[in-house]
Amino acid sequence: MTGSPAPARYVIIGAGIHGLSTAWHLARELRARGQGGGEDILVLDKRAVGAGASGIACGVIRNNYFQPAMRELMAHSVAVWESDPEAFAYHAVGYMQIAPEAMHSGVAKIFAEQQAIGYPSTLIEGEADCRAYMLDMFDDWQAPGITAILHRCRPTRARSSVISSSSPPDRGSVTSGPCSTCPSRSP
Ligand SMILES: Cc1cc2nc3c(=O)[nH]c(=O)nc-3n(C[C@H](O)[C@H](O)[C@H](O)COP(=O)(O)OP(=O)(O)OC[C@H]3O[C@@H](n4cnc5c(N)ncnc54)[C@H](O)[C@@H]3O)c2cc1C
Repeated sequence: MTGSPAPARYVIIGAGIHGLSTAWHLARELRARGQGGGEDILVLDKRAVGAGASGIACGVIRNNYFQPAMRELMAHSVAVWESDPEAFAYHAVGYMQIAPEAMHSGVAKIFAEQQAIGYPSTLIEGEADCRAYMLDMFDDWQAPGITAILHRCRPTRARSSVISSSSPPDRGSVTSGPCSTCPSRSP
């Protein structure tokens, strides 16, 4: 809208993801407490909804940050998006972090922390296993020197799985079954 806005009990400045998320959570909280709802909240933007960074972001949602606090925040956020994908225009496709040896231990640490908070993902370790895993999905896969893959499957079909051991590169192994969308191989 343009012009002077109507008075409101709560005013949020900025209609980017943070402003809209704040409004959404506040509306839910007000409703849960029986103290009002979305009609009590006004979001103002100097330009338009999504006029800032939120409107040009790539739209990548990934929970593979190195900071533990970010991982918990992302797990929480993903749960919100997955709670109503249609309303949030959330198109979950999963993601893969495909890493060389220099990043192997960091990726394994992320995986361990994801498991600790119940976030479903799969870790493949070892150059031979990583190559086989990728070739199962892409028969023209070529990248050499990959020794760790962190795979978050398409969430609707995902379940927690551990298919790696702490084997050194080239001796990776599968220690339990992958999720239904992952390539399935025997140890
Ligand atoms: C190119 C690019 C790609 C990105 N890709 C990703 C990605 O794939 N995944 C990811 O998670 N993150 C991504 N990000 C980061 C992400 O987009 C931002 O962290 C996030 O959008 C920030 O949201 P915000 O609400 O804080 O800011 P913004 O989206 O910038 O919203 C701020 C709003 O406030 C308004 N505003 C500012 N000042 C005033 C004022 N004085 N009065 C009224 N309104 C005002 C602006 O018009 C704007 O609409 C990307 C960022 C960029 C730039």
